[in-house]
Amino acid sequence: MKKARLDDGQVVLAHQYNKAVHGDHLNCADPECGAPMIFRREALTHGAAALRSASFVSKSVSDHISTCTAHEDFAIMAKRKKSIEQALREGKTVVLNLNMRLMEDFNAAALPQDVIGLASTGEKYDYVTAPMKSVEDFLDLMTMIETKAGQKGLDNTVVNYKGKTLPIMEFVVDTRDKYRDLLNKMYKSVDTSQDRKDVTDFPRLINFRATQNTKARDTGAIRGTPMNFAKARGNRLVLLQKANVEKEFQQTLRGENVFIIAQPTLNYGEAQAVLRKLQTQSEQTVFLNLNWQVVGAHQFTPVEEQSPDTKPKNRTQPGQQSLFKF
Ligand SMILES: [Zn+2]
Repeated sequence: MKKARLDDGQVVLAHQYNKAVHGDHLNCADPECGAPMIFRREALTHGAAALRSASFVSKSVSDHISTCTAHEDFAIMAKRKKSIEQALREGKTVVLNLNMRLMEDFNAAALPQDVIGLASTGEKYDYVTAPMKSVEDFLDLMTMIETKAGQKGLDNTVVNYKGKTLPIMEFVVDTRDKYRDLLNKMYKSVDTSQDRKDVTDFPRLINFRATQNTKARDTGAIRGTPMNFAKARGNRLVLLQKANVEKEFQQTLRGENVFIIAQPTLNYGEAQAVLRKLQTQSEQTVFLNLNWQVVGAHQFTPVEEQSPDTKPKNRTQPGQQSLFKF
């Protein structure tokens, strides 16, 4: 595990952990769980051929509650992967159920987890489902699907949240083009909105790189690397990424590079004003905040830094600027 909870409730990432500062009372990252954890420092493995990064491990796996969102249950995961592999071989659709609390008002008990927004083709078992309790679950399953079945496997995979589905390739927002598509989609809702409410879209997986500025400032919003988009009539839109996080992780995420699963939100008034400026004026730069709500530690995990020579190559189309790749 890459996260643990301290006695005061703060969440610490494995590479941030310092016994002298944080003490050695470490608990499972799930606030409901409280299973005791131990720190395992970075070490060389496989005859010094590989570096195993620092992590937190359970004192005893049986200490975790059954609904724990942070515990990696290897036996269950292995079984789940087997059934996905089988389904992929048979050309079935894989449905990854996002069984996660993503908003403050989310009522997990009311979530119809078995509702799947797929058109039935009449066949009883034309898809297989797998639950995901955390961003780690998602990354693990996605990597497995890509390894076993390549792009075709990914094309046959959708993410289900509250009965609505999205193809996995749209769910993973990893390029500027995908950010542009997401923004354009949300702008349509802003433009046609009758109730003037904030615009929220289906959850996405993003790579959030908090700026070093954010770290230095110690308080205030956690900002990610901004993105520039050229618009019509010489206009330029600067998309500012903002993570709205609970106080338990405000220090945790400062200056960090993490994967986040969250719902993107645009403030209606702000987005409306920006949209009008882009539609009516020219040769200007406008700024817009894209908000990502983080209510639980299950929504983020640190990006493991890879050395450049082990990074997979040629996985982006020419002209695409990749933000992250698996
Ligand atoms: Zn736990």
